[in-house]
Amino acid sequence: MADISYFRSILSSDGRARELAAHDGPIVGTLCNFVPEELIVAAGAVPLRLCAGDHDASDSVEDIFPRDVCSAAKSALGLIREAQGVFGRIDLLVVPTSCDAKKKLADMVSRFVPVHTMLLPPAKDVDAGKALWLSEVERFKTKLEELTGTSINRRGLREAIELLNARQQTFRRFLQLWQSDPPLVTGEEALYVAGASFHDDIGRWTDEVTKLCEGAQPGLAGHGPRSAIALATAGDPVRDAPYGVPAEGTGTASDRRPALQHGSTGGTGCLSTGGPQCQDGTGTERPVAPTGRWPQDGNASIQTNAAPRLLLTGAPLIYPNFKLARIIEQSGAVIAADDLCSSTQRLNQPVVPSEWSMRAMMQAVAEKYLLPSVCPCFTDSADRINKIEGYIEDLGIDGVVYHNLRMCALFDIESHQLRDALQALNVPMLTLHTDYSPEDTEQLRNRVEAFLEMLSGR
Ligand code: SF4
Repeated sequence: MADISYFRSILSSDGRARELAAHDGPIVGTLCNFVPEELIVAAGAVPLRLCAGDHDASDSVEDIFPRDVCSAAKSALGLIREAQGVFGRIDLLVVPTSCDAKKKLADMVSRFVPVHTMLLPPAKDVDAGKALWLSEVERFKTKLEELTGTSINRRGLREAIELLNARQQTFRRFLQLWQSDPPLVTGEEALYVAGASFHDDIGRWTDEVTKLCEGAQPGLAGHGPRSAIALATAGDPVRDAPYGVPAEGTGTASDRRPALQHGSTGGTGCLSTGGPQCQDGTGTERPVAPTGRWPQDGNASIQTNAAPRLLLTGAPLIYPNFKLARIIEQSGAVIAADDLCSSTQRLNQPVVPSEWSMRAMMQAVAEKYLLPSVCPCFTDSADRINKIEGYIEDLGIDGVVYHNLRMCALFDIESHQLRDALQALNVPMLTLHTDYSPEDTEQLRNRVEAFLEMLSGR
């Protein structure tokens, strides 16, 4: 079993908050999965993803924010207002306009910290949307240069891209542990590893994941790679399977799907309007869940080959709200993969510039954060459906669990579209509406157990 204590401590202790409090450079907080961390690093600042999963903080803002808003937005607002832990040491908060809650959150949070808003296009598959996003990434670069007093130059941006790409490459290596058969880490453990990347130093997190992978290497010997993902990452993924579309016989089925062209629906393609460079790459303690109210950590063990294999999708699971993953695994299923923007979706994509010119790098940075995204904030849900179909095919998925945060219309609508698509494939899907409260734990457990029973009878 892999030792993930380092990653747990990043999230649950006050060590990182104390480290950041002593840091004398700028710190830039971000929300969602759209803010280019490469630019923040290149400007000499520290990126800190501040999406939050804390129930008490979510409850605490009902004096200034409506009750009927999703827990994710309210929780971030609560922790920033209370300046808790790492949430108390930011010089700027960057908020993409991914939904109505985030748009109004940006305005509300600006009472407490300086805010920069990035305008997201509602569609990513039209040239006007791509052009808007590229101009927003350029506007963000200017904002960072003003904040830090550092001009982002070609060398600095290249080094930042290489640092972040090494992180993504290392996470792909980690996927080998998770997606081996049987897996060497649980889905909840994977959420801790991915969640720690929100707050940790990027290079140190990468080193720790590398150590985790090396420590687990002997254990991999008896575990076959379940999927082509593991095979594609077995060597040096940059050298052997560059981040573009892998050759036939390597990579996942979804990676191998034809690259989408400009104007087509999809998560690949590029922001260029069609030039030859265009390529298809794709001090205070942090709150800890109150003992006795949540399902307890560590009760789930890694399941055997006979356990149902589930894909976890939908709204992000953010520390400490890992209750759904814990319930699924305590109920006897394997979470074989997720496509959450707090986990695999965040850490699986690199920046792939066609050359090391400033223009090409800026374009590639913009592409990374827009085109592979399967966020339901975009008009078209085909990318997530297409991606999930690929996971089902590659990983032998028996059923899909869709995590829907109450009051989020975007994920709710998308869940219906996905359910219809999966019905056509005869793959059952369980949709669960929940929030950050522990009160519905047993109700969720009953629903999950009934779903697993249904799967076992198929
Ligand atoms: S869960 Fe939905 S409503 Fe909440 S921040 Fe995310 S996209 Fe917006």
